[in-house]
Amino acid sequence: MDEMNDLTAHGQGRSCVITRRACFSSSHRYWLPELTEKENYIRFGRCTLEPGHGHNYELIVSMADILNADGMVLNLSNVKKAIKSEITQQLDFRFLNEAWPEFDISQTDGLLPTTEALVHTIWKRLQSHIPLVAIRLYEQPTLWADYLGNSMDAYLTIRVHFAAAHRLARVELSQEENEKIYGKCARPHGHGHNYLVDITVRGTIEKRTGMICDLAALQELVNELIVEPFDHTFLNKDIPHFTSCVPTAENIALHIADRLSIPIKTLGAQLHKVRLQESPNNAAEVYAETPQLEAMPKSLEALATH
Ligand SMILES: [Zn+2]
Ligand SMILES: [Zn+2]
Repeated sequence: MDEMNDLTAHGQGRSCVITRRACFSSSHRYWLPELTEKENYIRFGRCTLEPGHGHNYELIVSMADILNADGMVLNLSNVKKAIKSEITQQLDFRFLNEAWPEFDISQTDGLLPTTEALVHTIWKRLQSHIPLVAIRLYEQPTLWADYLGNSMDAYLTIRVHFAAAHRLARVELSQEENEKIYGKCARPHGHGHNYLVDITVRGTIEKRTGMICDLAALQELVNELIVEPFDHTFLNKDIPHFTSCVPTAENIALHIADRLSIPIKTLGAQLHKVRLQESPNNAAEVYAETPQLEAMPKSLEALATH
């Protein structure tokens, strides 16, 4: 067979998702002219301070298409060029509030340049150049936003940390039986982890504030309901839920989701996902609402209904 005539040579016609990363440093300031100085400060805290503050942003662009005859979704140099000319060159070392008309708050449809407003605006500006499937923007390693092209719907994730001890053992079983199931993790006096928790909320980007929900209120809520009660504890004894339920990474993630689900609704957003990383080698993810991502395995869809 002549491979040159084979339509599937070099994978042509098959589909694939590719990602490209780009960085930029910009400053911004949160201030709405329709609010008083006091109202601005209550809502945005130190983000209202003049002349603003900055972040080293990290942008991850995901694209999908069928492979061309060269075995590529797109020629990466064209992707690099588009991201540079449409985004990073326009934002790098700039004051975001003045970089793009979308963030001109003197206009009635102007938005504050929050992470979620930025990710949405970047999508709108890139979509005619690149076949986008998702865009993620890190404002810092503990705060990022995702946008998947669904009107004004976006995702915001905050990462928090707590240190805690636990012991994996079912109270109704003997020590020997527990060690058979949980190995070293069943040892009687427990062991500890530095847990990382990623809390993802989904919601509509609000007009003017550019926010899915009040970020400071979300951080406060997670701190009050998770970090404060869990940090520096022996989970099995100090958290009532785990006196009868084995505190595996899965159960801790589920319990965090249960604690946060309703309070997050009061902020006007939906808890979408909780990811608990116990160590660099293992993590558990719980989807707290009907999954939005088509790539969701069926097993996770089942979890989301509990
Ligand atoms: Zn900021
Ligand atoms: Zn452990």
